[in-house]
Amino acid sequence: MAKFIRALAGERGDIRIVAADMLDIVDEISIKLGYPLNVSQTYGRALIASFLMSKLQKEGKLSLNYNCIDAPIEQMSFVAGSGVLKGAIIKADDMQILEYTNAEDMLGVGTLTVNTEADNGAVFTSSSELQSADIAREIAAYFQYSEQKPSVVVLGVRHDGRVLEAAGGIIIQLLPNPAESEIEQLERVLPKLSDFSRLLAENEDLETVLKALLEPELSFDIMEKEEFDYHCDCSRQKLEKALLGLGSDELKNIMEEDKKADLHCNFCNSIYHFSAEDLQALIDELERVK
Ligand SMILES: [Zn+2]
Repeated sequence: MAKFIRALAGERGDIRIVAADMLDIVDEISIKLGYPLNVSQTYGRALIASFLMSKLQKEGKLSLNYNCIDAPIEQMSFVAGSGVLKGAIIKADDMQILEYTNAEDMLGVGTLTVNTEADNGAVFTSSSELQSADIAREIAAYFQYSEQKPSVVVLGVRHDGRVLEAAGGIIIQLLPNPAESEIEQLERVLPKLSDFSRLLAENEDLETVLKALLEPELSFDIMEKEEFDYHCDCSRQKLEKALLGLGSDELKNIMEEDKKADLHCNFCNSIYHFSAEDLQALIDELERVK
């Protein structure tokens, strides 16, 4: 189980803090999806970022999509919010991934797209050119330019060469028109934030880590504590819809060539098997409405 804390700080409560310890999740899903440590470091940071970003929204889902050109990881995608938390590397150059050992080398130039979807279905999309391979820096830039919210983003995923030791993150945001004293408090705490992943590796408890990291410069009040898990929203029904979307000609081709379809979910590694009878039923359904 992963842990989440929401807190407020500052004399007027103008400083919002969201933090998560996601070691269990990042570790488990990286192993399941077969990612080497350097890849799970990059993957983990983006998964943590998307979760924390969704926690800064009032409602709905958020998705984070990386598209890189000429980099070991070419495409990765993350969705968080409304009970869903999932992420996957959609496209990668396997040879390059094995060559590079540093997480910072995994991404290159390209685009970062953030989609937010409210519960009523309203979608807002923001795309920006990547300036660096530093995910925390890119997310802070997103908040600055797309939402005009100055933010400090810390994403820490550490490994010792054998196993992951820590995986977590903090986002600290200043609400509009903060008090001068609150800006000063925040500035005083900034140099200490680089200790985050070390503290997280040494401590079991996220609240203890936050106290060690932020206090006494920035004392905070906890508003919400929550435990959560990875949750992929794939289902047989959704994949049936996707198959129907191919049209009856394409389904007939699959029938003739393979006599079955095994569909794999990139996000949780589930495999959905569609037999010849299943495919025929879908074809019949399409033919009926023709
Ligand atoms: Zn899935």
